[in-house]
Amino acid sequence: MQQPQNIPIRFLKGIGPKRAKAFAQRGVYTVEDLLYYFPRRYEDRTKFIPIAFINETTEQTVRGKIININVRRSFRRKNFSITEALVDDKTGRLTCIWFNQPYLKQYLKQDNEVILYGKTELYAGKLQMTNPEFEIVSEDTEDMSLHSGRIVPIYPSIEGLGQRALRKLMFETLNNYVPALQDVLPYDIRARYNLLNLAQSLINIHFPKDEHLKQEAYRRLAFEEFFIFQLPLAIRKTQSRQIQGIVHKPDDKLISKFIDSLPFKLTPSQIKVIEEIKHDMASTYPMHRLLQGDVGSGKTIVATIAALFAISSGSQVAFMVPTEILARQHYDKITGLFKGLNLTDGKSLNVALLSSSSSLKNKIIEDILANNIHLVIGTHALLEEEVRFHRLGLVIIDEQHRFGVGQRALLPAKGTNPDVLIMTATPIPRTLAITIYGDLDVSVISELPLGRKAIETVWITSQKRLWLYDFIRQVVQKGRQVYVVYPAIEESYSIDILSAEKMYEEFRTKVFPQYSIGLIHGKLRQKEQEKIMQDFKQGKLQILVATTVLEVGIDVPNAALMVIEQAERFGLAQLHQLRGRVGRGPWQSWCILVSDATTPEAKARLEALVKYKDGFRIAEEDLKIRGPGEYFGHRQHGLSGLRIGNPLTQLHLLKDARRQAWELIQKDPKLLLRQNVLLRNKLLQRFPEYENLVMVG
Ligand code: ADP
Ligand code: MG
Repeated sequence: MQQPQNIPIRFLKGIGPKRAKAFAQRGVYTVEDLLYYFPRRYEDRTKFIPIAFINETTEQTVRGKIININVRRSFRRKNFSITEALVDDKTGRLTCIWFNQPYLKQYLKQDNEVILYGKTELYAGKLQMTNPEFEIVSEDTEDMSLHSGRIVPIYPSIEGLGQRALRKLMFETLNNYVPALQDVLPYDIRARYNLLNLAQSLINIHFPKDEHLKQEAYRRLAFEEFFIFQLPLAIRKTQSRQIQGIVHKPDDKLISKFIDSLPFKLTPSQIKVIEEIKHDMASTYPMHRLLQGDVGSGKTIVATIAALFAISSGSQVAFMVPTEILARQHYDKITGLFKGLNLTDGKSLNVALLSSSSSLKNKIIEDILANNIHLVIGTHALLEEEVRFHRLGLVIIDEQHRFGVGQRALLPAKGTNPDVLIMTATPIPRTLAITIYGDLDVSVISELPLGRKAIETVWITSQKRLWLYDFIRQVVQKGRQVYVVYPAIEESYSIDILSAEKMYEEFRTKVFPQYSIGLIHGKLRQKEQEKIMQDFKQGKLQILVATTVLEVGIDVPNAALMVIEQAERFGLAQLHQLRGRVGRGPWQSWCILVSDATTPEAKARLEALVKYKDGFRIAEEDLKIRGPGEYFGHRQHGLSGLRIGNPLTQLHLLKDARRQAWELIQKDPKLLLRQNVLLRNKLLQRFPEYENLVMVG
């Protein structure tokens, strides 16, 4: 029999081109995809609630007969209709209304037996269900066993296919194809964790025999998702340990001298992380290390020392950052720190800034190839083809979440297995890090430098604008500097520039005529942006009005107040990043969120920011509010393949799956053993991009 993953869905009875297209929109192409198209929720139709017992504010499923239905137009609003049905179940009567769906009257008729699902409420003294989902109970008794008297699946809707038709299709497909399904999870693993086999779990996820089997079906299928998701990570890590990397032999004297020359003492965390990096860089395998540390924890200096390890052992270093402003900032800082530092052969350290707008670009590119440059800092301009190295030994990627997975891989390819250090200030909870970045080693800077005062965060409504302006004045009078940030709107980028511009004008002419104020946004030419940042850094500007170009990395310790306008429009991680622009010096800093947010989600975000300071904690909240799919988005490969596995709520299951996947790969690194053939095929089907990982030879 043909395997379900190879059978297009249109071969199923009743699926023509039109329905196949509707399925394709939901990512369902094959019979296997269909079997993995899981219910959105279930209804326990072994028992319906009698209307007389309805609790007024919860979701309910009732069954009854329509005794009256009609459509009325609204008097007050044009083109607005209300369909109203009265449903009787012999214990009581329930009014159901649907807004603006006059066509319902063609389906729902008097005397129809119906099942309704929705939220009930008391309205004008009457019990009412608004916009309920419904299903007409048919006379066909054979069919009825699918749609009632059991726990019934409700699917994410497919255009042109009702729940009943979908349910029937699923039932028939299960009957016909489950015997042909092969279980990819090895038997011993299933036995160890008491997992259902594939057939049982698919049957019970669609048509659960009871609640317990439903849960077990979920557990098994989530385990499978986690397991397959971990395989390529395990394979990659195992293989990278066997690759011959560069064995760096850093000049310890030079490094000590450099560390002693710093204007501060490294924190214990920084020292520990530097040791971890040093160990990797001195080993035979290439380093793949992720450095996590909250905003302001001092990752740049760690990266700089890693660069010195490589340079002093004869390699070149590429340091990639997401914005030109940040590239310039790192360049200025690092050249400043390197002053007076010479290599053992007496030569000075050459650092270059490569920006796409630089007039020296061609010269710098030549120098890189000629090995005249030890460290080059730049944006994705570094990825351009003509940028070639003499001996690239270390790649550093700052704010890695700003780059796509593909982009991250391009830079290391310019060397021969160079060491790679990637850094992020958008931390993910520690426990998740090892599972998601399973092929990377993770280092964490867990504390901020001493002497930092906690940033005070306040949320105000726009009504308190006058108070805000007063507060800004007080901060400036103390000699500190202020950022005022406006949100970026993706679809119409110019609007936020407009609002930033407007505010800038108002500040300049009316509110703060006595201060120097700057305006910075992404539409300004590179040179202008740099000039404004420079002026702000040197204290020539007291207030900087900005769009989100400020978001990552900017480091001006004298800035002590961050005002975020329309704060509800930012994500939590972004807000935390913005707040991290202040609190970088020894004085008290503030972050003021201006927002008239009304939605529960936006409120939750702002409240979380006010409550929590720690980036890891905030990341956890963010994950909770948005859910893993949204949180990780499509930037993080693999995770988008998780449909029912939730790394947050099923961390234990994820860890078990991970352990098993890694053990299996230790024994069979390329999945070549006969008992792992199914798994190998599944892996290639799910992640075709990993084919080279399991190729023989
Ligand atoms: P991030 O981790 O957000 O990239 P940075 O590397 O920009 O943080 O560092 C933030 C600020 O803290 C910089 O001004 C940096 O010079 C300073 N800094 C870094 N390490 C220390 C330390 N150990 N003690 C005091 N200040 C430090
Ligand atoms: Mg940084």
